[in-house]
Amino acid sequence: MDDETYRKYKKLGRGSWGKDLSLWKTMYLGFINLAKEEEFNPFVEMFANMFLRVVNARKEGKPIIMYPFNFEPALFIAMNLTPLMQETFSVGLAPLKLNEPYIDITNKMGYGDTPTLCNAQRPIVGAYKQGVAPIPDLMFFTPTPCNAITMSYQVFQQLTDVPYFTMDVPYWAYDQLNEFYDEKIIDYMVKQTKDLIFWLEKETNQKLDLEKFQQTMKLVNEARQNVLEFNELLKNVPCPMPSLAGFMNFTAMATHSGTIEAVKATKYIRDEAAENIKSGIAGVPDEKVRIAWPYTHIFFDVDLLPWIEETFQAVVILDILGYYPVLPHDVSTIEKCYESVAKGVLDFSMVGTCRGNAEFYIDFCLNYVKDYKIDAMIIPMQFACKHAYAITRIAAEAVREQLGIPTLIFGVDPYDSREVTSETIKAKISEFLTQVVL
Ligand code: SF4
Repeated sequence: MDDETYRKYKKLGRGSWGKDLSLWKTMYLGFINLAKEEEFNPFVEMFANMFLRVVNARKEGKPIIMYPFNFEPALFIAMNLTPLMQETFSVGLAPLKLNEPYIDITNKMGYGDTPTLCNAQRPIVGAYKQGVAPIPDLMFFTPTPCNAITMSYQVFQQLTDVPYFTMDVPYWAYDQLNEFYDEKIIDYMVKQTKDLIFWLEKETNQKLDLEKFQQTMKLVNEARQNVLEFNELLKNVPCPMPSLAGFMNFTAMATHSGTIEAVKATKYIRDEAAENIKSGIAGVPDEKVRIAWPYTHIFFDVDLLPWIEETFQAVVILDILGYYPVLPHDVSTIEKCYESVAKGVLDFSMVGTCRGNAEFYIDFCLNYVKDYKIDAMIIPMQFACKHAYAITRIAAEAVREQLGIPTLIFGVDPYDSREVTSETIKAKISEFLTQVVL
């Protein structure tokens, strides 16, 4: 970022943002200070503006809607709402370890503990208690993939007294060729999408502009196409991008899907990958090992993947969130737009693989290992992620038996550096890569 741009963003962050946005402001200033050392690309711009949009919405009296990481905000954007993905707060604090005092406060309040409820949500409970977390005007959640979201949103609602709406996510497949196909799935999801729109119209006293909705879904499609092409480019050997690149796509789609910003950010990342292949540039020079990471990152340690790259010349191709699999859809009619929203919910990162039968996740891992020529899988298992415990073990067995590829699974809290330390994690990965894989 050049000096002029840095000064512009610094200036935009001045003044009081209000007590409930005080930590939000700390995160914003931390982000632009970090970004100062980086190229000012569309992803950095999108993320910096995301912080400011919430502040501006507050000033302008524009409704803010909070939702979890498992949903795309396109519909909210089409309805002129300001989306706020909860995890940008609770998880965004983790690299700075600023979430840990709020995990402790949440513990003292008696709302769960680390092995039972996830720390991707719990920090905001303690932060609400202290009055330093953003209070939205509306809340929305779907209960998949985990009970942690379902429980926590009820607590958020009690603490903030904000109206909320929830959408059920069914178990079965909508693809007729899938053995778990159920013909009712799409109709069920479309009905719920319409119910959500009805609720939003009632709460915000406005009608959905159908033309704007369709335009928004066209932008969703453009971004999805970019991500699809990016995911294909990562099959190249050597992988053209470093380990964290795919996560940018998830961030773009989970926070900005349906905006021109998401189209630009995903295009930028896709073009980088294509350019690197053309120029013979590898994400990790002299790539030796290709790792599948079919689970989430260790969010408190942003240096872990660069350490893996440097120490073992190993690239982590995509994590489960970065592996955004939603395809572009036909959005030529409004009814098709509803269907596209519905399929986006069912197939979203981690939701499509973890919302039903174990076979969904097992097939995901098998295809991932085959398609990306993977040498090893690493799964850092979040203690509270109960739905994933069993399926990761079964999937690891299937990958070993059918493809001869080993997997490392270990317990960890990806959001709290005090549970399993970086040193312990590195020792486990080091032992696995040197003694089993290399
Ligand atoms: S890590 Fe597991 S428990 Fe935590 S938010 Fe994600 S899916 Fe839910």
